[in-house]
Amino acid sequence: MSIGETVAAVSTPRGTGGVAVIRITGDGTRGVLGRVFSPAGGGSLFDRPPRTAVYGEVKGADGIAVDRAVVTFFEGPHSFTGEDVGEISCHGGVAVTASVFGAVLEAGATPAGPGEFTRRAFINGKMTLSEAEATGLLISADTPERMKLAGAAADGTLSRTITSVTAKLTSALASLCAVIDYPDELVEDGEIDPEGEILSAVCGARERIEKILSTYKRGSAVVSGVRTVICGAPNVGKSSLFNALTGEDDAIVTEIAGTTRDVLKKTVSFGGVTLLLSDTAGLGDPSDKVEAIGVERAKKETENAELILAVFDGSRPLTEDEKKTVGALPEAAKIAVINKKDLAPGMTEADKRLIEDRFDAAASVCAKGGDAEELEAAVSSLFDGGAVDLTRDPVIWDARRRADLSVAAELLARAEEILSSGGPADAACALCEEAEGRVAMTDGRGVSEEILSEIFSRFCVGK
Ligand code: GDP
Repeated sequence: MSIGETVAAVSTPRGTGGVAVIRITGDGTRGVLGRVFSPAGGGSLFDRPPRTAVYGEVKGADGIAVDRAVVTFFEGPHSFTGEDVGEISCHGGVAVTASVFGAVLEAGATPAGPGEFTRRAFINGKMTLSEAEATGLLISADTPERMKLAGAAADGTLSRTITSVTAKLTSALASLCAVIDYPDELVEDGEIDPEGEILSAVCGARERIEKILSTYKRGSAVVSGVRTVICGAPNVGKSSLFNALTGEDDAIVTEIAGTTRDVLKKTVSFGGVTLLLSDTAGLGDPSDKVEAIGVERAKKETENAELILAVFDGSRPLTEDEKKTVGALPEAAKIAVINKKDLAPGMTEADKRLIEDRFDAAASVCAKGGDAEELEAAVSSLFDGGAVDLTRDPVIWDARRRADLSVAAELLARAEEILSSGGPADAACALCEEAEGRVAMTDGRGVSEEILSEIFSRFCVGK
């Protein structure tokens, strides 16, 4: 879809609602609105100042009214996309919305692709790439943490930091160029950076980048979520814990061992991150065929997990089976959940030592009573909950940014080595230049059309 071409979409969700909003953007927006809309007070929509809500009638190509609506015209560049934009707020019925949208298409607009409005906002310089991506995240945010992270990035928290790093590097590059161009005046005794100013600018930029990189663990745990399994022997309280975490009675809790025969899944916000939670059948010996399938699936889930919540019954010693399983858990973050803390403790000192040895953290809980506070603190600390402030820090959440920033940090570390050992200025300059390009790319400069298409294809139509 070429920029400027006039496109339209229903921006509100499909279904019945009080109001539906149809959005139009592009050079032909005035023409489309002029054809479909007649203000109730007579005259043209464009007799009124832009950004005024105007009530009137929406007509089809045959001139017959399809609905009464409020229309707002935003004259570019003072609009979301930077182009001329029209918003038609019509009645939110499925048939009404379809008729109004149909009239807009008949009047000359083309249906917009996914993320088309935000893509144009980015291309027209109304927002940076991270602000555009964060806007998409904000729209789909379904947990408080996802909302906080996306809100801050949409407000430019990440972009401002990226800009300050590139500015630092640009100024270091200017100094390096001067050293290369006028070596005699600026360099004494073969040292390219006698005052260490360039070196400290490069070092400062690398440290900022590393600070941003350190937020990835939390950022991705919030946005992508952490594949988490709850596992353990029969009757230790896995289903009760699943219910305590999800706040719903999805998993059946009974006193008969082996009641959870399949894998239940749920996304929950817990400990400041998003857990993609599976409650699995016990990993013990299955007593029938159906249960055997459940146990097999549980094994697979456990192997792919990023976080394992291994539940134990704290009112009794570990069984031989449990001790064996503890030694053979796959590579992942592991928390031992010592359940039934309302009962008298029954674990041996040796059990506790084994757990301390094999797990990243241990948390005592009472799953039946819904007390999972220690577990929440353990999850939060494993995913840097205390170290990263989602509303203030420049947080990254995607592998693409992490990869670009990691490369930039490595290039700068090499440039620092050259600068501090009096190596060739042009080599340091080339490294800094490449690093600056990588950093700028994380916020959209020079990013390829393929990557942009990939990013915006994840948006919904109408955003
Ligand atoms: P699962 O087989 O591991 O999924 O265990 P369940 O969640 O079905 O629980 C097994 C039994 O332990 C049930 O009778 C639960 O009520 C009981 N139980 C679970 N959590 C607790 C707890 O925190 N304290 C006590 N006293 N009993 C619990």
